[in-house]
Amino acid sequence: MQIISGTETRKKLLEKYKEIISKNNLKISLVIIQVGDNEASNTYIRNKLKYTKEVGIKSKLMKLDESITEEELINIIKKLNRSKTTGVILQSPLPSHIDFTKCARLIKDSKDVDGFSTNNLFGIRDNNEQIIPCTVKGILKLFEEYNIDLVGKNIVVIGRSNIVGRPLADALINRNATVTLCHSKTKNLEEYTKNADIVISAVGRPNLINKDMVKKDFIGIDVGINIVDGKLVGDFNKDVEEKASYLTPVPGGVGPMTVAMIIDNLIILKEKEGR
Ligand code: NAD
Repeated sequence: MQIISGTETRKKLLEKYKEIISKNNLKISLVIIQVGDNEASNTYIRNKLKYTKEVGIKSKLMKLDESITEEELINIIKKLNRSKTTGVILQSPLPSHIDFTKCARLIKDSKDVDGFSTNNLFGIRDNNEQIIPCTVKGILKLFEEYNIDLVGKNIVVIGRSNIVGRPLADALINRNATVTLCHSKTKNLEEYTKNADIVISAVGRPNLINKDMVKKDFIGIDVGINIVDGKLVGDFNKDVEEKASYLTPVPGGVGPMTVAMIIDNLIILKEKEGR
């Protein structure tokens, strides 16, 4: 069984991005909007600031009070849309009185680092990919990096969120895989996973997939993030290692790639700016 290392891949990519940015003298800037003080968000944001700065991107955090209204937030987004910043990220989750999807979709396509705008998401559906959401792109990059051919493969994606499962399924179809999208209402999940060459789980439920649900030599991509007894684990039970040919670990698999793809998307946005 071979481990698909997101940590190693990210390291390699960051070196490449740093070189591209300095060689081409790209002046890239990023604003991350955070509303409130969610603990998990603080960790994600710290990483986003750290790695973007490491490659020469001017990134800053705009931390807004929990009590801000949706209208006030929308005005801030509109102002950033008119500013010179290369990219804008709206960190989720937002407090319950603000609609995340509505606000994230107001970020202009040309500054939409996360790829959540309607045009960017529809571009994937339309096989006219522009900015791909970072977690989805991170998974695609891992396939590329490990020379995993997707053409004609039976791939089961579990989870149908607008930011991971759905755009991932579309992107895999664009790459000529045969894709089945499973979700919370799927009956007999194992009937699908058992026949899959590649199983990708983006649910957030520990032990959702175990060795009896997969075929020998399957490839497993674990997107899930769960805390069990204070430890970070994915959606796969550890016993799937017995049957996998390739597997992403948690931590150290998909997670590190998500932050690297923020930089990948920022470089694309910068290059598009001049056009
Ligand atoms: P979400 O909560 O929006 O979606 C979860 C999906 O799982 C839903 O579509 C639901 O239908 C499906 N689901 C729930 N229970 C199920 C079951 N028993 N069987 C089959 N499907 C079921 O979540 P999301 O934002 O797409 O994130 C999914 C997971 O991936 C979470 O654990 C999240 O923390 C993690 N995540 C990781 C990264 C990363 O960089 N590694 C990035 C984004 C999300």
